[in-house]
Amino acid sequence: MAMAGEAHSRTVAPNGTIGILGGGQLGRMLSLAAARLGLKTHIFAPEERNPAYDVASSRTIAPYTDEKALKAFAEAVDVITYEFENVPVETVEILTGLGARVSPGARALAVAQDRIIEKSFARSIGARTAPYFAVDDLSSLEAGLKEIGRPAILKTRRLGYDGKGQTVISADARNLGLTWEEATRKAWEEIGARPAILEGFVEFECEISVIGARAADGAIELYDPPENRHRGGILRTSIVPADVEDETVDEARAITGKILSELDYVGVVGVEFFVLKDGSVMVNEFAPRVHNSGHWTIDACGVSQFEQHIRAIAGWPLGDPARHSDAVMENLIGDEADKWRDCARTRQLCVHLYGKREARAGRKMGHVTQLKRRS
Ligand code: AMP
Repeated sequence: MAMAGEAHSRTVAPNGTIGILGGGQLGRMLSLAAARLGLKTHIFAPEERNPAYDVASSRTIAPYTDEKALKAFAEAVDVITYEFENVPVETVEILTGLGARVSPGARALAVAQDRIIEKSFARSIGARTAPYFAVDDLSSLEAGLKEIGRPAILKTRRLGYDGKGQTVISADARNLGLTWEEATRKAWEEIGARPAILEGFVEFECEISVIGARAADGAIELYDPPENRHRGGILRTSIVPADVEDETVDEARAITGKILSELDYVGVVGVEFFVLKDGSVMVNEFAPRVHNSGHWTIDACGVSQFEQHIRAIAGWPLGDPARHSDAVMENLIGDEADKWRDCARTRQLCVHLYGKREARAGRKMGHVTQLKRRS
């Protein structure tokens, strides 16, 4: 029976199609989750080959700015989302201009794509961040170092990921046999002499993240935060529950909820936090998409972050984010994925491989999640 009402008319029913911009492992896991709900996925990406095509119902291979291809894509799907935050905002604007529904919207994408706008947004909702300074050239970098002090981290304003486009400016250049001026110039060149943000180096106790979801009607669900350990700027391990105080969890969850509501967000977000000695948190950054530190939810929760995202954008009720198990998720990076057979042999280890053909250094090839049932 047809029902009146905006919320109902925006629902994508089983057999409907979710359009996904981007075809990496996140698109692959979104497609798998959608399939479980009886929904189809259509991937739009420029690559000839990628992990998501193998499991999606259809694909469009075209540049993100190909208006003709975007129009045909918009006509072929019921709702559109993206699986990486470097999709051009222009692409989302073209699609919405064509009358397509894109979730999360262009504003969330624009805020998350620019580290300076992201930090000032976080502060505008009352969250703390590392001290920061906008850097456009060598002289503003020098001014920033005077204000913020060393050590500091210089990061490109845009298009950074997995520790790429960032470098630490140490407190003692002499250890490297450089003058301060030389060390400053080296850092500027290392990030490609591009518009950047200089951040104070935060002496955190640990890093946690909150994976949160918001539905179109404003309902919010939040997963338990994992503790995340990085090496070389790349996430290696997420451990849930994180060994932090309840007050820390409450603060991180409250900030995540605020980010979701302030952006009128629909879908899943991943918010990364530094936990300080006193248990308070600072926002590091957020990703307007499903997040690597939420991969454990596939095996440790009834409804994973991927299913939750599909539910949110398809206008379904959000699922219960409760955890039935404790979990340790480890990324398989580069040739670590060669040990897939040993992983498959290990009881209680859930193995996820992304079907990438080439195991280049630093490339996320898969992940494993070790479960421990909660007593
Ligand atoms: P990002 O790409 O900003 O998430 O940075 C990657 C990793 O570098 C973070 O997860 C931290 O481990 C570290 N990092 C980034 N920014 C800072 C900072 N301001 N102070 C200390 N460590 C940082």
